[in-house]
Amino acid sequence: MIPLNDEQEMVLNTVRDVVRDRIAPRAAEIDSKDEFPWDIVEVYAQNGLLAPLLPEQYGGIGAEYLLFAMIIEEISKASPSAALILIAQADGFLPIHSRGSDILKETYLPRLASGSLSAFAATEPGAGSDILSMKTRAVPNGDHYVLDGRKCFITNGSIADVITVFAYTNPARKAKGMSAFVVEKGSAGLAYGKNEDKMGMRGSVNSELIFEALAVPVQNRVGEEGEGFANMMETLDGSRLFAASQAVGLAQGAVDEAVGYARERVQFGGPIASLQAIQFMVADMVAYTEAARMLTYRAARLLDEGKKRQITRFCAMAKFVASDTAMKVTTDAVQVLGGYGYMKDFPVERMMRDAKLIQLYTGTNQIMRLVAGRDIFRGD
Ligand SMILES: Cc1cc2nc3c(=O)[nH]c(=O)nc-3n(C[C@H](O)[C@H](O)[C@H](O)COP(=O)(O)OP(=O)(O)OC[C@H]3O[C@@H](n4cnc5c(N)ncnc54)[C@H](O)[C@@H]3O)c2cc1C
Repeated sequence: MIPLNDEQEMVLNTVRDVVRDRIAPRAAEIDSKDEFPWDIVEVYAQNGLLAPLLPEQYGGIGAEYLLFAMIIEEISKASPSAALILIAQADGFLPIHSRGSDILKETYLPRLASGSLSAFAATEPGAGSDILSMKTRAVPNGDHYVLDGRKCFITNGSIADVITVFAYTNPARKAKGMSAFVVEKGSAGLAYGKNEDKMGMRGSVNSELIFEALAVPVQNRVGEEGEGFANMMETLDGSRLFAASQAVGLAQGAVDEAVGYARERVQFGGPIASLQAIQFMVADMVAYTEAARMLTYRAARLLDEGKKRQITRFCAMAKFVASDTAMKVTTDAVQVLGGYGYMKDFPVERMMRDAKLIQLYTGTNQIMRLVAGRDIFRGD
């Protein structure tokens, strides 16, 4: 296991307490009611967990990516949906933190560390994997831009106070013609479409956002015109690490449930844990979860060390390995629990539904393999 310093241990111990006392007892209810857990946002804010990656000057703790990955992992053992609040939050503020002006950072980052929520809005009905086909436009008009377009599936979308929106300022230039903007909740011209009713990761809000002649002040442009796509890709490297950490935590949660159940469940006069068929299945579950964890920590370390050449490939690989592992491990956990695994009285069916999403979002696992494969053969 990776050695941590005292401060990192202290943060993780706080997270474990929060998970045990406040998140684990709510996990089934968050899923069944499909209600956004505002109480957990409050707990995160009280414990300095809303934006740990931010430096102290903006209200964070200057956490390394590795520590944040471990925080996400701990929470996801009990509730990946509760962890997704922090992931969407980071996706929303990282573009501002890495390329925003000082004014933007001072205006928005402290708010996001202390209780406000953010969102990252790239995907559109016609632009998912093919994100460069997006239609949202930002046209300059004096001291502001006029934003028109529509985004979908946006995590935290309709509840976010601050939304980082990607739009073309010069569509002809494709990747070099995209820019990012900070849009505030309540802006004239911002409307919300439907909130999605999902298979899993319930309790998390996913919304359609509609921009109609929305005036965004020039000072709310994040970085220079044309930097949006690069900013999006840098943010997605981190986001893929967070998704991988979420998947590792989820897989570990399922392993723990399966092992505990196998010890207790008696068939043919003994615990099913004594059956080799169960031991083989659980051995695979534990081994693949551990392997996914190591790859995920490796990706986190590369981000912390700023190893640009390797970051994108390793974050993509960690994301598809960990989420494919979570899908297999949670499915096997249902198998270990037999018929009871299929019932809502036990958490493993929820875990299986939650795992599916991680194979899809922040770039599908087909796209992750495409990103890694291209990089492997890039030849430098
Ligand atoms: C619950 C949820 C939350 C989300 N949150 C956000 C968010 O906060 N912000 C945001 O911007 N987006 C968000 N997304 C969007 C998410 O990132 C996209 O759904 C994802 O990138 C895939 O896009 P798509 O759904 O349009 O699928 P498509 O791109 O239409 O893909 C359909 C299928 O085709 C495959 N495919 C497509 N192109 C290729 C290719 N070139 N090679 C091989 N296979 C290919 C895909 O892998 C997939 O299997 C969220 C999505 C969901 C479901």
